[in-house]
Amino acid sequence: MRKCLLCGCTEDRACDEGCAWVDNGVDICTACVDKIEAREMVADQAREIMLRRNVYKKQVQDGKMTLKKAAKQIAISYAILDRLKAAQIAAENDRQNRRSPRSS
Ligand SMILES: [Zn+2]
Ligand SMILES: [Zn+2]
Repeated sequence: MRKCLLCGCTEDRACDEGCAWVDNGVDICTACVDKIEAREMVADQAREIMLRRNVYKKQVQDGKMTLKKAAKQIAISYAILDRLKAAQIAAENDRQNRRSPRSS
């Protein structure tokens, strides 16, 4: 079942204020688009990855973590970053769509 990446609402259990999917293929709802700045979340996650890379590097050097495990953790972080980027693009498209008045 489709589930919002950010709030976890689903087709059956929408947000209290009511929501819809903003874009085909990206699971983010209109309620979240209004609430969050996806751009900020992308920046946060990118920063987080940089910090974690240093931490993992040190742990591998100290023999506290295997290189394989560190690489896997980094891969997971990048996967999250990709999803956030997709959410950001969807949010921006949605805002643009709503800004442009539709002729009826
Ligand atoms: Zn949502
Ligand atoms: Zn929702």
